[in-house]
Amino acid sequence: MHIVTLIKGDGIGPSIMNEAVKVIDASGVKIQWEEAHAGMAAFEKFGTPLPDETMASIDKTRLAFKGPLTTGVGGSGFRSINVALRQKYELYANVRPAKSWPGVKTRYDDVDIVIVRENTEGLYAGLEHYLTPKKDIAESLAVVTRAGSERVIEYAFKYARDNKRKKVTVCHKANILKFTQGLFLDVARETAARYPDIQFDEKIIDAACMHMVMDPSQYDVIVCTNMFGDILSDLTAGLVGGLGLIPGANIGNDAALFEAVHGSAPDITGKNLANPTAVIMAGVMMLDYLGEHEAAAKIKTAVEKVVNEGKFVTPDLNPQSTCGTIEMGNAIVEAMQ
Ligand code: NAD
Repeated sequence: MHIVTLIKGDGIGPSIMNEAVKVIDASGVKIQWEEAHAGMAAFEKFGTPLPDETMASIDKTRLAFKGPLTTGVGGSGFRSINVALRQKYELYANVRPAKSWPGVKTRYDDVDIVIVRENTEGLYAGLEHYLTPKKDIAESLAVVTRAGSERVIEYAFKYARDNKRKKVTVCHKANILKFTQGLFLDVARETAARYPDIQFDEKIIDAACMHMVMDPSQYDVIVCTNMFGDILSDLTAGLVGGLGLIPGANIGNDAALFEAVHGSAPDITGKNLANPTAVIMAGVMMLDYLGEHEAAAKIKTAVEKVVNEGKFVTPDLNPQSTCGTIEMGNAIVEAMQ
């Protein structure tokens, strides 16, 4: 029996997480879900977006399965709980695979990219403040460390080797940000030298975006700093059919957190329109992490069948479809029988 901290999250979170739990339980794997709260819903209920009980649960389980959390835009909201959790548990590698689905019509049918995003430092860590009382000058600190770069870049190369991938591309901006991005690039070059069996490539981030849209087949595993990884993973989501399809694993040395790449989608909340595929596939990544490969494969095969058939899918995948989140979850459970 595995014990997992379950955080359903905000917006579409509870509805997609209910489907994911239903599907995972139906696979036969034994999981005891320990429900905990975080984000806007927790703030409204408990007066804090990250209650102590939630931390206590993850301290114990070292494993969380999480729905999206709403983070207010601009200076008035609380700081991102996602960033706080990633930093507290040192979940330094954010692994986000984007692969074409034969049944989902997009510009390309051969996308197979895994982004490994540094997850704890860089510009995205949000070390910011105003420099003047009038709040008319703001400053942001992007801290990149050698140790932080080494562990995530090592993870990317090891991931490539373990998963029989051919190439790692570092996407950077070291031409302009010569110290922070330069350090990350130096470490990537040094690490690449220790992996002669893996091809290594370097791309400046802006050109990489253009190449990726024009010919995604030249990318395999990508490693980059936090903010670039955030943006690139939505780009790769767009290449394969949208945010409803892309899972993410946040991996540390002794803890992990699995979630979808997408957010709480306020525009479709409460409408039974949210695609549960991304979180279900995050659940598949979690089962593989737990060594439950048989259950993971069973769910993956069922999800592929349902998505590729295109009948019981949410409207983001098939605009003619009247199928909702719950019906898609039911179809995946049925496909596992
Ligand atoms: P979003 O990912 O929530 O939505 C972007 C677009 O994609 C929307 O049109 C939405 O309807 C669509 N979409 C997202 N998930 C979908 C799904 N499962 N099925 C169908 N369509 C889906 O991004 P946003 O609107 O920029 O952010 C909303 C909130 O989510 C913000 O507060 C943001 O901070 C937060 N957020 C949280 C996480 C996280 O918890 N890991 C990640 C990204 C954004």
